[in-house]
Amino acid sequence: MDNYIVSARKYRPQTFDSVVGQSSLTTTLKNAISSGRLAHAYLFCGPRGVGKTTCARIFAKTINCMNPHENGEACDECESCKAFNEQRSLNIQELDAASNNSVEDIKQLMEQTRIPPQIGKYKVFIIDEVHMLSSQAFNAFLKTLEEPPAYVVFILATTEKHKILPTIISRCQVYDFNPMEATDIIEHLEYVAKNENIEYEPEALNVIAQKANGGMRDALSIFDQVVSFTKGKVTYKDTISDLNVLDYEYYFKLTEAFLSNRIPDVLLVFDEVLSRGFDASHFMDGLGRHFRDLLVSRDESTLPLLKVGQSMRERYKTQAAKCAPKFLFKALKLCNNCEINYRASNNKRFLVEVTLIQLAQVTDEKSDEGSGRQPTQIIKPIFTQQPDAKQQVIEAVQEQPKSAAPHRSPIVAETKRNSIPTIKGLGAIPGVSLKQAVKENAAEPVRNNQNTSQNVAVVQEDHVVTEQDVNVCWREYTNSLPQAQSALAGRMKAMQIKSLDDNNEELEVVVNNTIAEKDLRTAMPSILLFLRRKLANSKLNITIRVRENTDQPQAFTRPEKFASMVKKNPALGQLKDFFDLEFC
Ligand SMILES: [Zn+2]
Repeated sequence: MDNYIVSARKYRPQTFDSVVGQSSLTTTLKNAISSGRLAHAYLFCGPRGVGKTTCARIFAKTINCMNPHENGEACDECESCKAFNEQRSLNIQELDAASNNSVEDIKQLMEQTRIPPQIGKYKVFIIDEVHMLSSQAFNAFLKTLEEPPAYVVFILATTEKHKILPTIISRCQVYDFNPMEATDIIEHLEYVAKNENIEYEPEALNVIAQKANGGMRDALSIFDQVVSFTKGKVTYKDTISDLNVLDYEYYFKLTEAFLSNRIPDVLLVFDEVLSRGFDASHFMDGLGRHFRDLLVSRDESTLPLLKVGQSMRERYKTQAAKCAPKFLFKALKLCNNCEINYRASNNKRFLVEVTLIQLAQVTDEKSDEGSGRQPTQIIKPIFTQQPDAKQQVIEAVQEQPKSAAPHRSPIVAETKRNSIPTIKGLGAIPGVSLKQAVKENAAEPVRNNQNTSQNVAVVQEDHVVTEQDVNVCWREYTNSLPQAQSALAGRMKAMQIKSLDDNNEELEVVVNNTIAEKDLRTAMPSILLFLRRKLANSKLNITIRVRENTDQPQAFTRPEKFASMVKKNPALGQLKDFFDLEFC
């Protein structure tokens, strides 16, 4: 165990060609070296563990090599190369500015620049995390950076490019290192595993690559950790348990359940995830990523955006084929909404569960949510139980020979037959034309007092309605209007129906002007017919009133609504001015 070397060090690349995932960058560096056009200072930017320091060291070795290859690589055989490989070369000086950022540290380093190299041509100074230098240290450094001796090359590395002063950037050649692709990391881990004779499952390496988040050094450290945890057999199950990663099997399982609308299964899976100690937001985050991965797997052109290993790729493709794009768009939107509301939610578990239920209903054709809009064609009955009772009353009435069958009965009976009445079906009711029905309804109040037995029937027949019922039905009606009447529908949606009596049977709607009144008056008979049928109350009546000037004008736009709020509470206006708030 004494000679154990961590993989990140053992497998640190020694040549440009063996640097993983930065090929375009290493090619540029090699070309610069072979053409002999070297700058005095380089700035390597990029996230941690992607090869900045490694490239700096290879660069230092290569420019000092006595017999470099034609392809721009070092020979690894000359005295200078050997010194570099054995880490005893004096031509390379490293300073970690994260821990040595004082002006003294940098002064010491600058002293070194005065001594020319003994072997080789260049002295290379690598300053890691250069953004951490104190401002005085920066100034001390700047002097040397402006006029360095000909044999000096500075390589500055940073993870935070935005913190580097422009005076430094303008004196350097800048190279941006990208986070590594998961596929590159996986490939390299496979290479290391094979070299070390370690058994592994490809899915396990995939998890490690995901966890490393684009950093090869992190990936190798995690790999070492997993190898020691699993005693040399890197299985998927052991890896996720060691790294506390949520098994993506859950997401595949959940998606299957969403597609087949199995709400109970969905809730049970979520409960299992929570019981294993995972955080709900972590879970939702992963679910959103899963949908995103499925979406990019649907198309060959976006497939490269899928950052998983080959073994997972096929699974994603298979499941993606089952998901319609519409489902995935909607699912992503739901996940996104959940994430937005998560922080503010008092009951986070409930929020996630509601989201999961919605997800499981996306492909449910019977569900209103499917279209993502209000239902436009089918209107579901509000009262599903009553028709039976009502029908009995009607039949009882019809059996009495003396009283003519109530004229409403055909309509009500029809309502029962079509438990989901449609607007389209309205005109198709046998024997009842729209006009006729309106006329009959208008004659209603007179008939109500004809005889006692019928009166009883009528009282039982009319259902109690609330103001809210009427308003809900009113909106349903507007949704059923054809495109040609969208203007009327739009106006109607903004209206509020107010009750004028205790039974909520005499109602009122206020319109803004006489033109709106005229339009609405024309439409009112069919509106009333719809409401009376829908709410099973034949006495419903709505009068139209034109708004008087004294009435509060209705606030439509955000500024108007805000103005009316300010009227009630002037402090709101001050708040807006003070913070210079705007409407968005
Ligand atoms: Zn050499």
